[in-house]
Amino acid sequence: MKSHVKAVVIGGGVVGCSVLYHLAKAGWTDIMLIERSELTSGSSWHAAGGFHTLNGDPNVAKLQAYTVQLYKEIEEISGQSCSLHLTGGVMMADTPERMDFLRLAHAKGRYLGMDTELITPSEAKAMFPLMDETNFVGAMWDPVEGHLDPSGTTIAYSKAAKKLGAEIVLRNRVVELTQEVDGTWNVVTEQGTVKAEHVVNCGGLWAREIGRMVGVELPVLAMEHMYLLTEPMPEVEEFNKSTGREMIGVLDFKGEIYTRQERNGILLGTYEKACKPWSPVNTPWDFGHELLPPDLDRIAPSLEIGFKHFPGIEKAGIKQIINGPFTFALDGNPLVGPVQGLTNFWCACAVMAGFSQGGGVGLALSNWMVHGDPGFDVWGMDVARFGEWAGLRYTNAKVRENYSRRFSIRFPNEELPAARPAQTTPLYDTMLANNAVMGDSWGLETPLWFAPQGKEPKDIVSFHRSNDFGPIGEEVRATRERVGVTEIANFAKYEVSGPGAEDFLNRLMTNRMPKTGRIVLTPMINEFGKLIGDFTIAKAGEDRFMIWGSSAAQKYHMRWFEKHLPKDDSVRIHRFDQTLVGLSIAGPKSRDLLQKLVDVDISTKAFRFMDFREMAVGGAPCLVNRITYTGDLGYEIWMAPAYQRLVYKAIKDAGEEFGLVDFGMRALLSMRLEKNFPTWFRELRPIYGPFEGAMDRFIKLEKNDFIGREAAAKEQAEGPKLRRVSFIVDAADADVMGDEPIWAKVSKDYGTVEKPHGYGAPRFDTGGKEIRGSKAAEGASAVRGIVDGDWRVVGWVTSGGYAHYVQKSMAQGYVPAALAEDESAGLFEIEILGHRRPARINVEAPFDPSGEKMRT
Ligand SMILES: Cc1cc2nc3c(=O)[nH]c(=O)nc-3n(C[C@H](O)[C@H](O)[C@H](O)COP(=O)(O)OP(=O)(O)OC[C@H]3O[C@@H](n4cnc5c(N)ncnc54)[C@H](O)[C@@H]3O)c2cc1C
Repeated sequence: MKSHVKAVVIGGGVVGCSVLYHLAKAGWTDIMLIERSELTSGSSWHAAGGFHTLNGDPNVAKLQAYTVQLYKEIEEISGQSCSLHLTGGVMMADTPERMDFLRLAHAKGRYLGMDTELITPSEAKAMFPLMDETNFVGAMWDPVEGHLDPSGTTIAYSKAAKKLGAEIVLRNRVVELTQEVDGTWNVVTEQGTVKAEHVVNCGGLWAREIGRMVGVELPVLAMEHMYLLTEPMPEVEEFNKSTGREMIGVLDFKGEIYTRQERNGILLGTYEKACKPWSPVNTPWDFGHELLPPDLDRIAPSLEIGFKHFPGIEKAGIKQIINGPFTFALDGNPLVGPVQGLTNFWCACAVMAGFSQGGGVGLALSNWMVHGDPGFDVWGMDVARFGEWAGLRYTNAKVRENYSRRFSIRFPNEELPAARPAQTTPLYDTMLANNAVMGDSWGLETPLWFAPQGKEPKDIVSFHRSNDFGPIGEEVRATRERVGVTEIANFAKYEVSGPGAEDFLNRLMTNRMPKTGRIVLTPMINEFGKLIGDFTIAKAGEDRFMIWGSSAAQKYHMRWFEKHLPKDDSVRIHRFDQTLVGLSIAGPKSRDLLQKLVDVDISTKAFRFMDFREMAVGGAPCLVNRITYTGDLGYEIWMAPAYQRLVYKAIKDAGEEFGLVDFGMRALLSMRLEKNFPTWFRELRPIYGPFEGAMDRFIKLEKNDFIGREAAAKEQAEGPKLRRVSFIVDAADADVMGDEPIWAKVSKDYGTVEKPHGYGAPRFDTGGKEIRGSKAAEGASAVRGIVDGDWRVVGWVTSGGYAHYVQKSMAQGYVPAALAEDESAGLFEIEILGHRRPARINVEAPFDPSGEKMRT
């Protein structure tokens, strides 16, 4: 065993081996994987080995597609077979809502280059005759699904890595991790200490324990998971013989089960409601190549549905039941990347679908370690996406919820209840008393909308407009015409101070820093010229800046800030989190209202648009920004939590004469739509350049040498390939939710969306007839791929909804830059729930395009 290496990867499961392979492939060969026992000694060896490309997050779906493509490569390099069976698979919908969900997934797949197809239940049955198709209303076929040999695949990664020069040390547990002052890690193992520049936690079932070695409680938990294997079945053998094919994989939403052929029998796995965590507090180090006792009672309700839906399986004898643990993060996606607050400590854990995601995780992490950037938009699996609130008990509740809903539909207006309320502001009870429907905003309870008195404050979940539509409209109209108040505690807030503060911010941000008492809006970009932040910055005094940004990105941004802090202690960063809370008042009467609560002149001239001031509001010391995300005249008022009730009461009392209303986050988002304002993580993400994101006026290339300046200058000189635009959509009773494809009637291919991948997957022949999704997709677009006659998919929606004041359905998204200013009718269509709706680009904001109202 070497004593010094560039990087140590802890854990020889499929993920650790993939990370090792990708690091070696990227040129880091002075690397070592250390495994406690033999390779695959965690969850990898007893996996069902299924893989697929679909994922709720399109960016994670892309990495899954990469994983599947990779298997051929590692087989060739290693000479080890992965026993790949690319059978294709179907997702079965038993209700119209689930069919809507499939339509959405199918539409989303278009710009990701996925070749899915909506088909009828009988077409699905032709490929999996054990089902009773009368239980279903439709299905989606995905040719890029299948299964493989989990151990063979893990070994293939490890052999390929070794061929490239990586070292693997087996039967050697890492027992401690310490760090020298110069940043070198001491990886203390049973066989001695290895010094390493970087450490990667690929500990799988023990990832949480490895995190604890460095003082981090990772939000990851193992769950027991069961699948059963049947005895050989004559029906399977007969099918194989008559068609010359293997049966496909089937996913049944209603039963929360998956099933497929395994040898000449069937494998059936469940995500049961009565799920059970494994080792909820500490994972025993001596857990080996073991299985857990099966518990058929626990999965009986799922099996009951399964046998009803797939009666062919019920008749077969059960040969074996596998019960094994594997890990999940709160939302079911992996935890990848550098851990904030530590240097060169990386994670690639909580990978619940190692055989769909392991390759993509390895690629993204190795890019990040070797080149400083994952090379993809990996927010959906970034370890920084959860905050301190995601502790052991929170994780336990959320992971159980996630597991039991693994195949359930999450509606766009659906808030999940587990582990709530976690954090609350002092106004929580008041908001409940005001009949607020609360939502979870990065662990904080936040009012979404206010139900009319006498009505239950509850969302009716739907893909269509729902019971919040009317009340949100009322909130918006009252705010736009009079004045409204809303809680904004769910913004990120930081203070950057010290003699080096201004230079530091100038180096990080694309815009000039404001003068004292003034505010600027500014994106932040990385070295590659991609958007990694969007902030409001106020200069609060000499060497003191207040910064507001996206709540969910607090750890993501702190990680970036810390990485770039000067070493001379000239800059301090303080993250307030919920030690600073806020209220926003907006609307034409907001100045008159605020004037009643303060003892200073806040007339237009005395307190201008984009001014910042410390002032007492209703007697409480506050920071006040003359700006709001509604795009109206308005203010953001920030205070210590102890004062929030006082300020809110003062606003409510003074607001009575102006017809003040409470409005929630959904009304705020509706108002920003009609101003064409973007949001972070929807419109603005690390896959877009600042000019693509239409942030031109905030990019001051001439100001000083900021991070990413050169790349931004290049983007500007060459012209962006894509451009963010706003659309008005001729929608029916459903608005866009995000990720819908944008079609255009154009004669040429702009090269902005991926082409459907073939993967060489043979299309399944259903008795001479190509699968064509006609009946299942009745009335909706049954077209496959990204070209349909004169129409092509040219871009995708990032977000949207109903803009209540201007009474229009709106969407924002990215299209080829050449089309971005073309407002012609008939040029675009946006696919909503499978139906293509006419859409028109709207260059000027429909509400107050000149910005007059917010400046008055
Ligand atoms: C019943 C079942 C069915 C499944 N079916 C599928 C499926 O169909 N498709 C799919 O994609 N996924 C499936 N999975 C999930 C899949 O198994 C996991 O996604 C995958 O195994 C995760 O791999 P990993 O490398 O992160 O973790 P692990 O396989 O747990 O590997 C972690 C490794 O780290 C080692 N280690 C830990 N701590 C230390 C230490 N301190 N020092 C040295 N070594 C250490 C362990 O010994 C272990 O070998 C299934 C899981 C189960 C249980």
